[in-house]
Amino acid sequence: MYICGKCKATIKKLDEKYTRCPECGYRILFKQRPPIAKEVSTD
Ligand SMILES: [Zn+2]
Repeated sequence: MYICGKCKATIKKLDEKYTRCPECGYRILFKQRPPIAKEVSTD
């Protein structure tokens, strides 16, 4: 998942050749890690 550096739009799927925001056309996107809940076992 990516976040646009300008309009903060979230881009789930990013084309390799078209790396820009589909909303505003801004080229700088920030890679965002999806919040994955870790399964922790507590003894
Ligand atoms: Zn944008």
